[in-house]
Amino acid sequence: MTRLIFLGPPGAGKGTQAKVLSETSGIPHISTGDILRSAVSQGTVLGQKAQSYMDRGELVPDELILELIHECLTQFDGEPGWILDGFPRNVAQAVFLDDLLKDTNQSYEAVINLEVPDEVLVSRMLSRGRDDDNESVIRNRLKVYRQQTAPLIDYYRDRQKLMSVNGNQTMEAVTSDLKDLVEGSS
Ligand code: AMP
Repeated sequence: MTRLIFLGPPGAGKGTQAKVLSETSGIPHISTGDILRSAVSQGTVLGQKAQSYMDRGELVPDELILELIHECLTQFDGEPGWILDGFPRNVAQAVFLDDLLKDTNQSYEAVINLEVPDEVLVSRMLSRGRDDDNESVIRNRLKVYRQQTAPLIDYYRDRQKLMSVNGNQTMEAVTSDLKDLVEGSS
């Protein structure tokens, strides 16, 4: 059983690395960003409510995300676990997750923090060309990350769950470091 949380600033490579790990290990990858983007493109009620926040680089309100995560994790409560990417994004979401896991007798092995310097993040995001990747939105997403998400580094360090990986390497080198770390922690 492997349950992992990927933490790190936007553009750190969380989505890419979580996807590779999911494909090589067969552990389901749950990306709140991907779920929201698909809700937006399908024009669902969730997508309509989330779009303006995403376009501005703000976090979508907790009530929308928490319902979504509740559904996903009660659905994936058996083997072989899950890889969470993009959730939690603030302390309230982390507390909700801890309560939900306690209620469903689940726990996570590790929270992986991908570390990448700011100037590298901005150039990576500008080059990937997603709808919410123009420069002012990118700067806002980094600001939101620092204010709301970065406090989770201490939250998980205090709980002895935090593992850091240097994300400022080639994609292959990051994948290899992650693989070693995950195999060592399980
Ligand atoms: P991501 O693909 O993880 O960078 O997410 C893209 C956008 O989706 C973010 O900028 C937020 O607007 C929204 N989003 C994704 N995950 C969350 C979350 N856990 N809480 C709030 N908003 C989220």
